[in-house]
Amino acid sequence: MTQAVVLFGSPGSGKGTQANLLKNCLKVPHISTGDMLREGIRDGNALGVRVAATLHAGALVRDEVVNSLVEKRLAEPDAQAGFILDGYPRTRDQAEHLVAWLDGRGIREVVIHLIVDYNVIVARLTGRRQCPRCGTLYNIVSNPPRVEGVCDLEGEKLVIREDDQEPVIRERLAAYESQTRPLIDFFREKGRRLYEIDASRQSPQALLVQVCRTLKTPETVGPAQQG
Ligand code: ADP
Repeated sequence: MTQAVVLFGSPGSGKGTQANLLKNCLKVPHISTGDMLREGIRDGNALGVRVAATLHAGALVRDEVVNSLVEKRLAEPDAQAGFILDGYPRTRDQAEHLVAWLDGRGIREVVIHLIVDYNVIVARLTGRRQCPRCGTLYNIVSNPPRVEGVCDLEGEKLVIREDDQEPVIRERLAAYESQTRPLIDFFREKGRRLYEIDASRQSPQALLVQVCRTLKTPETVGPAQQG
């Protein structure tokens, strides 16, 4: 059985942190479209050149570009036993594309919606720092590194992601509200397995326990519920 998990939620809801913890538990790769796009920009490859301006503005990259990026990644050997999608799908077109891809292979995904209060999200995004080498995320208030401004793992100086600057954060949240949040109704209408978890107050480790428990419930493992 392919273990397909879609982590869904607003920017700043903790999808990336959760996916990183979950991948060690499930032993399946964490596929983050945001990370793949940023990697393209860092490498200066054709994809990176194409999407750089869009990411810096906090807008969404075109569906065809992201759909084909994800499809190629899902075809790689390490994704055959399962995968955790983070940041995809983000539009109706992407969701339809993914659902058709999964259904075509008989894969039954679980969508986990991490629900977080708007004010918590803004605080998380403005306080976020990242290691430019290993990608580990910190927060100056809720999850600071041992030494201020330095990655615990790499000793590298932490940076503020360009799209974590305030005007760009506003754009990203607006894109989420108008294009991504409506997918919750899409998942429900299509009878996909959608689970909602309050992710505002718990630590990432406590949340992981809840996510793992959700993934082990009979409805999640067995046949999908109708309706
Ligand atoms: P966050 O969820 O915190 O906004 P991500 O790393 O997931 O951060 O995404 C960063 C940026 O990458 C987005 O603002 C958008 O420009 C682009 N991006 C990532 N995933 C997608 C996607 N599925 N569709 C379109 N654009 C995407």
